[in-house]
Amino acid sequence: MSNYIPPETVTKLIEATDIILVIGSRIKLASSGTERLGKCPFHKKGEEKHPSFSVNQQKGLYHCFTCKAGGNVVEFLMEYEHKTFPEALEEIAKITGLVIPKTKQDIVKIRQEERLKELNAKVMNYFIVNLSKSKKANEYLKNRGIDSKTAQKFSLGFANQSWDDIVKKFGTSETEINKLDKAGLIRKNKSRSGYRDYFRKRIIFPIRDNKGSVMGFAGRVIDDAVPKYLNSPETEIYKKKQLLYGMFESYKSLRSSNEAIIVEGYTDVITLSKAGFRNSLASGGTAITDTQIKNVFKFSEIITFCFDGDSAGKKAAWKACEICLLNTAVNKKARFLILPEGQDPDELIKSKGPESFTKLLKNAAPLSDFFIRTIKGNCDSSQPSGVESAAEKSMETVNKMKDGIYKDKLIEKIASELKVKTSQLKRFKHQESEQSRKTPSNNRPSLIRQAINILMHYPELAREISEEKEFKYIDDLGINLGINILKKIITLIDSNESIKLATIIEHFSDPKINKHLKALTSEQLIISQIEAKNELHEIILRLNERNTRSELKKLVSKAKNNTLTKSERKRFLALSKSIEIK
Ligand SMILES: [Zn+2]
Repeated sequence: MSNYIPPETVTKLIEATDIILVIGSRIKLASSGTERLGKCPFHKKGEEKHPSFSVNQQKGLYHCFTCKAGGNVVEFLMEYEHKTFPEALEEIAKITGLVIPKTKQDIVKIRQEERLKELNAKVMNYFIVNLSKSKKANEYLKNRGIDSKTAQKFSLGFANQSWDDIVKKFGTSETEINKLDKAGLIRKNKSRSGYRDYFRKRIIFPIRDNKGSVMGFAGRVIDDAVPKYLNSPETEIYKKKQLLYGMFESYKSLRSSNEAIIVEGYTDVITLSKAGFRNSLASGGTAITDTQIKNVFKFSEIITFCFDGDSAGKKAAWKACEICLLNTAVNKKARFLILPEGQDPDELIKSKGPESFTKLLKNAAPLSDFFIRTIKGNCDSSQPSGVESAAEKSMETVNKMKDGIYKDKLIEKIASELKVKTSQLKRFKHQESEQSRKTPSNNRPSLIRQAINILMHYPELAREISEEKEFKYIDDLGINLGINILKKIITLIDSNESIKLATIIEHFSDPKINKHLKALTSEQLIISQIEAKNELHEIILRLNERNTRSELKKLVSKAKNNTLTKSERKRFLALSKSIEIK
C-alpha cells in the first residue's frame, strides 16, 4: 500500500466531480446564471452582509470575494471539513464512484491505459492524413454535406483499402504489435499467421473522452459493404457502455449551455454541430446506458433525447426514459423529441433547416409527459383492460423509483391521465416479486429515515420544524432509535447557527449510527431544497399523525382499565374528536 496517488487520477477525480453538488450539499447556494452564490463558510460570522461566495460549475472552482478563499473541490473539502488531501480525494472517489489506485498493479494499469491512448492518437493522425489523400473518401463526405472544416473539427479520417496498412506502419516490433492488438486496431489472421487491420476502407470517427483522449474508433463504409458501421472492440479503454460520441467536440458547449442533445448517429452529431447545435452526442447505434446518462448529467442539467420515430428509435427512447426516471436528481431534466418515422436530425436539418429543428427542440416532451404518453400509446385506454395494462406497465417502472415528491407527483399525473385513483395505481405494488413482498420495510425507507436523509443534505431545514414536535409516543421499530436520532439532529442544528455536517455526525459516538449517517451524506438526494422543504413538512405531518394515533392507542387501553387520570381523560376526548373529524 502506498500513499502515492498518480496526478492523472487526481485530475480525473476533480474533473468527474460536480462541484456544485458537493458544495451545495454542504452550504446553501442560490442560482445566479452559470454560477451559484452563497454565504462564505470561511470568514467570520457577522462579517458578511451579502453572499460573496461563488461556485462556478464550468471552472470547477469556488471563490470568496471578501476573504479571497478559493480553490477546487478537493481544496474545499480540506478547508471546510478539515480533511487531509488523501481523505478529500477518498470522499470524492466515493461521490463519483471512481477508484483511487492503491496498489502497484493499479498504477501499472493506469500507465498501460495511457500508452493505449497515445497509440490511438498516433493512429488517428495517420487516418487523418489518409483522408486528405483519398479522393473517394472525400467525395463521400462531400455527398454527406460534411466540408473539410467540419471533418477537421471532428478529426475524421480514413482507413485505407488494405489488409495490413496499420500492421505495417505501426507494428514495427513484437511489443508494438501487442499494443495494436490491445488497442483493437488489428486482429489475428484466422487461417494463416500474422495480423490484419481491423478497419479497412472506412471513414473513421475517433471516439474521444471529454479531455480529448482517443478511446476507440467507429468506421463507416463508403460503399454498400457490410456492416455499415464497425466499432472498435471492447478494450481496456474503449468501453462502449460508458462513452458517447462527440464528448470532446461538444464538451465546451455542453458545459456553457448546460444542455445536451443525445442523438443516435455519428453523422447526426456532425450535422447538428455544423448547423450550430454544438452540444450534441451520439449513442452510436447501441442502447443508451445508465452510466452514459449519469456521465452527461455531470456536465449539463438538461438532456434532450432526439431519436428517430421508427421502432428502434422508439425503443431507444423508452430505455432512456426509464433510466432517467430511476435517476431523477436535483436540477436535472430530461426531454424527449421523437422525429417522424424514418427521419433523423441529419436529414431534417438538411431538408428543413436549423430553425425547424430549434422549434422541435423547444417542444420536446418533458420526461413525465413522454413516459405517460408512450404508455398510453401502447394501450387502448378507451377499454378497461387497456387502462389496467397501462396502469400496470407504468407502475412497473414507478415502483422502482426512489421515494420522493417526484414519484408522488408522477403517480398523481398517471392517475389523472388514466382517469383512475392513485390508490388503484398503488395496488400494483403488491404484485411485486415474492422476495420484495417478504421485506416491504426495506423497500420504502421509514419516514424518520427520510427525514434524517433530508436534514443531512439540507440541515438548515431543521429550523423549519417547530419545537413542540415531541413525538414521544412514536415507537420506531420498538426501540425509539430513529426518532431519537432525528430529534438529536434537530436540536443540534437548532442550537448552533452554522453547524457543519461533519460536526453533526461527530456528535453520534455509536460507530454504527456514525457510519450510517456518513453513508447518508454521500447519497445523492433526488430533490431540490424547495421540494425537500415540502417533503419534510409532509413527513412531519405524517409523523404527528402517527404520534397521535400511538398516543390514542395507549389512552384507549388505559380507558378500558379505567386508569385514566383527569388530564388524560381530557386529552383522550380531544384526540378522539380530532380523529373523528377525519
Ligand atoms: Zn469568505
